Amino acid sequence: MEPPRQYSLNLPGIERETLEVDVLLVGAGAANLACAIQLSRLLAARGLEGKSILVLEKAGDIGDHTLSGAVMNPRGMAELFPDWRARGCPVDSDVKWDAVEILYSPRKSKRLTGMLVPPQFRNHGNVIVSMNKVVRWMKGEAEAAGVQVYPGFAAAEILFDGQAAAERVAGVVTRDSGIGKHGEKKDNFQPGMNVRARATVFGEGPRGNLAKHLVRRHALDARANPQMYGTGVKEIWEIPAARGAEWLGGVLHTGGYPLGTVGYGGSFVYGLPENRLALGFVVGLDHPDAQLDPHALFVRWKQHPSMQAILAGGKVLGYGAKTVPEGGYWSMPRLYGESYVLVGDSAGFLNVATLKGVHLAIKSGMLAAEALADALAFGDTSAARLARYQDLFSASWAKEELYGVRNFRQAFESGLVPGMLDAGVQMLTGGHGLRARRTNRADHQTMQPARLSRTQKPSYDGQGSMDKLTDVYHSGTVHDEDQPAHLLVKDTTICVERCTKEFGNPCQHFCPAAVYEWPAEGAPKGPTVNFSNCVHCKTCDIADPYENIEWVVPEGGGGPKYANM
Ligand SMILES: Cc1cc2nc3c(=O)[nH]c(=O)nc-3n(C[C@H](O)[C@H](O)[C@H](O)COP(=O)(O)OP(=O)(O)OC[C@H]3O[C@@H](n4cnc5c(N)ncnc54)[C@H](O)[C@@H]3O)c2cc1C
Repeated sequence: MEPPRQYSLNLPGIERETLEVDVLLVGAGAANLACAIQLSRLLAARGLEGKSILVLEKAGDIGDHTLSGAVMNPRGMAELFPDWRARGCPVDSDVKWDAVEILYSPRKSKRLTGMLVPPQFRNHGNVIVSMNKVVRWMKGEAEAAGVQVYPGFAAAEILFDGQAAAERVAGVVTRDSGIGKHGEKKDNFQPGMNVRARATVFGEGPRGNLAKHLVRRHALDARANPQMYGTGVKEIWEIPAARGAEWLGGVLHTGGYPLGTVGYGGSFVYGLPENRLALGFVVGLDHPDAQLDPHALFVRWKQHPSMQAILAGGKVLGYGAKTVPEGGYWSMPRLYGESYVLVGDSAGFLNVATLKGVHLAIKSGMLAAEALADALAFGDTSAARLARYQDLFSASWAKEELYGVRNFRQAFESGLVPGMLDAGVQMLTGGHGLRARRTNRADHQTMQPARLSRTQKPSYDGQGSMDKLTDVYHSGTVHDEDQPAHLLVKDTTICVERCTKEFGNPCQHFCPAAVYEWPAEGAPKGPTVNFSNCVHCKTCDIADPYENIEWVVPEGGGGPKYANM
């Protein structure tokens, strides 16, 4: 059988330089940086200091594409660095209080505090961080441990050696730069590099474009539920000083409005230093409404009187969006193959009940490092050897934590009320709930016809309630516009002839960065793709009902420039 097509914008038939390393890590998130740091230590302990470890990151600077909440459970970081705080890991605040607010109508709400806060929302002992700052700090630690970190290098394709069932991952090809928008070589054309490695670690975050390909090509998810995702839309605000002081270290989660009883999702507000707040809204992409618009939901949520009371007199400092892998334990693919492993969000290491993945990403990287160090010591990076990573995971607290919430997200597929009922039973039965193993559909299979849509769009005032384009401006997103669009609409006849009638072209709604435009009178040739707005959240790659959009990497260095996200 033909392997699935590997989409890429690299030019064919180009002569490329080759760089050889021992271990290549794709993506400089918490998972891969933890893996690289731990691996360099374990190799040194085995007298293998000479081995080369290279991390590639598509963002122009480490952290520029990193977006999280984030309340961090310190368990992972404290395992990586027992002296993490004294060593300088940047912490915005300890969590000082937490609360949950039920927005039970467009104007009314009820706040729960103290013992009334459900267990998964209790954050005593956790810390509020900006993951941009944390990964920048981890990059320094990695370099001090002898790891090479190259920002601005997007991995565009996987290199495979060998044939069919015996093939191994041999590294990646980085993205060519200097290709014009019609695919022509420009004067500044720079071919991508072949980076060949004994072992490759895919830590590309949620819906990694290479990890997605690998999962399909090697059927790594043959025994798993389809991965489910949520899209998180986030802003950083500055609020008046008196309220800012009350909020420092505060953690608020809300549920209810504007989702009501249809769909899975909710919001967070975290209190930061300098009178700043991190606020965001995450909605599951299995929502049935064809006009599901995560950004519009976020704006409507901010317009609720309870949120208005928090935000009054404030201003927006930053914006971003990113997806979250929500499927949990049952959606995790096999974690290894011939000469490769998957870590962090790319492998679904996220506890959706608490919306926490950072500690699990770090732990996954550390476990992978143990298997990789052994494999290098034996001179054997075969799947049989790297299977140790899966065994280490199975024996770890990460597995125990994820297994404890294994049916959580799936229970909400049939609505809020059955989901809450099952979640209650799960708490009493160690995660079992009403069914031993819940299944789910992939998000792109859950959309209902456009005529059933009930979505309401908010009104925008250009200040607290910004439209998508104004918000994208706050994300600092820049791509060289003279390059081919990195959002590939595979067959525009599907958009024109089927999608318009069946789903009303949902890409114009679900994208939180106004990438896809569809004029009211219809677009005979398909949507206009404003790829330069793209914040790399991957929503389109996941939610398109025909799987007709493929997200591939643009030139390295392009994309958002997140600060304090
Ligand atoms: C809105 C939101 C709120 C969240 N809140 C919390 C929270 O409060 N607490 C918590 O613990 N977790 C939270 N999470 C989850 C947490 O952020 C993730 O689980 C964690 O960051 C995953 O780390 P990672 O290293 O796997 O991936 P990432 O942090 O996504 O890092 C992956 C990196 O790989 C790079 N990359 C991707 N593809 C390529 C490529 N082809 N070539 C080169 N580089 C590439 C990306 O640019 C990125 O820098 C939240 C997530 C979201 C979206």
